[in-house]
Amino acid sequence: MKCGFTIQHFKECIELAKDKDYVIVPPVGLVEQKKVIVLRHDIDWSVENAYELANIEYDLGVSAAYYVYMHSATYSALAPKSMSMIKQMYGMGHEIGLHYDSRYSMSFEMDILSRIHNKAIYSCSQHYPGETKPESYQGIIDCRDLELKYISDSGMNWREGCMCQWIGKKDKLQILVHPEWWVTNSTNRVDGINKLFVGIQDSMAREMQQIKQDLVTYCKDLGISY
Ligand SMILES: [Zn+2]
Ligand SMILES: [Zn+2]
Repeated sequence: MKCGFTIQHFKECIELAKDKDYVIVPPVGLVEQKKVIVLRHDIDWSVENAYELANIEYDLGVSAAYYVYMHSATYSALAPKSMSMIKQMYGMGHEIGLHYDSRYSMSFEMDILSRIHNKAIYSCSQHYPGETKPESYQGIIDCRDLELKYISDSGMNWREGCMCQWIGKKDKLQILVHPEWWVTNSTNRVDGINKLFVGIQDSMAREMQQIKQDLVTYCKDLGISY
């Protein structure tokens, strides 16, 4: 087993956890399990990457939590494609939560997000570390309050060692995995960002091509130049 930000290693970690009798759940599935991993994904940059990981987890028979960020500069949660993917992720058994940014109204965002997959929001996660807790989150579980050993790949860096080293060491874990690094099989941070960029560029190019085609058809129908 070789550590790295690859789908192969992600799958190995999930299989390892299953072999060691962990139950893998999103926060909504957390009860009094003896050995449990709350698996969580914050969607900072790409719903498509998250969707890909959600499918991989579905095939592995595990469910996780996906936290949607409403202020991403690189995706819109309300774009039809994103909405469809979020709905499908929920349909696969994953929890959909809010990745909050306390500069903005959390109740407003939770309302919009819950209408995408038609289910009330159960939990949330913070985007900026150290943020003060928003006032409006009463009744919503904040991942930072879960009493589990927390490890994260933030900035493509397992500060306390790769997740595989924690599986078996602690009975109760909260693991944060950012899909963008893993589904692109990134060799380093710059490579990850470059692959993310190419992905966004490709999808934007397809959208623009469609807009262009629609405009041409519109003009032809009216007999005007384009
Ligand atoms: Zn590892
Ligand atoms: Zn974030």
